[in-house]
Amino acid sequence: MIQNKYVVGNWKMNGVGAHLEEVRAIAGGAARYRGVDVALCLPATLIHRAADVVPGFPVGAQDVHFEPHGAHTGCLGAAMLVDAGAVLTIVGHSERRERERSAEVRAKAEAAQAAGLDVIVCVGESLEAHEAGATIETVCRLANKSLPEQVGPTRLTLSYEPVWAIGSGSTPSPKEIGWVAGALRDLVDKRFGGQGAGVRILYGGSVNGSNAAEIFAVPNVDGALVGGASLRAIDFLPIVAAA
Ligand code: PGA
Repeated sequence: MIQNKYVVGNWKMNGVGAHLEEVRAIAGGAARYRGVDVALCLPATLIHRAADVVPGFPVGAQDVHFEPHGAHTGCLGAAMLVDAGAVLTIVGHSERRERERSAEVRAKAEAAQAAGLDVIVCVGESLEAHEAGATIETVCRLANKSLPEQVGPTRLTLSYEPVWAIGSGSTPSPKEIGWVAGALRDLVDKRFGGQGAGVRILYGGSVNGSNAAEIFAVPNVDGALVGGASLRAIDFLPIVAAA
């Protein structure tokens, strides 16, 4: 199945109302490129406002609770995110995995799907696992445990994010990314059969305007999850252009 490349920004804990101008610039700029799907996962405080500022542009969350509502101070349920205007959410980002296990990530993915959100499930190996040559084993174990039961009625995406590459300026070589993306593609195809073809596989970790084209050329890489370089249109749009 030939699909559009998918470039998703993850603003993490960055951005206040003044930065909605960047959201507007990114959405406007992204509309100029065909054949690439673009989305921004914003801090929860900006989702509603961004959805108003750029109607029709996909705005998402960075996490979701696995229960719909209840006594969970500080958390947000999937239906609440939908109500705020989100159409997607990330789950299992390594900056959250310190506090959660794969079973919880999977439950979050399924809760998000049930509410109608597209889901990006993140997996990645630590520096220790990388140096021990355990990258593929680690990433596939995490993916098997964290992916939802079904591809679902919404779009499912799997993002390979080596923990040591996030925010560090270093990335694996294209060859290494290709090995992992190939292993994840096999895993997804085996697990979901024909429906697996609709699951896109992203790379995330220090993607920028200079390395994006090389990363997008790697077989089985269908796009990128971008942190630091997604905060400003001037940095993010060249990555969209490279896709
Ligand atoms: P980075 O973050 O692009 O700033 O390395 C990527 C991510 O955490 O998704």
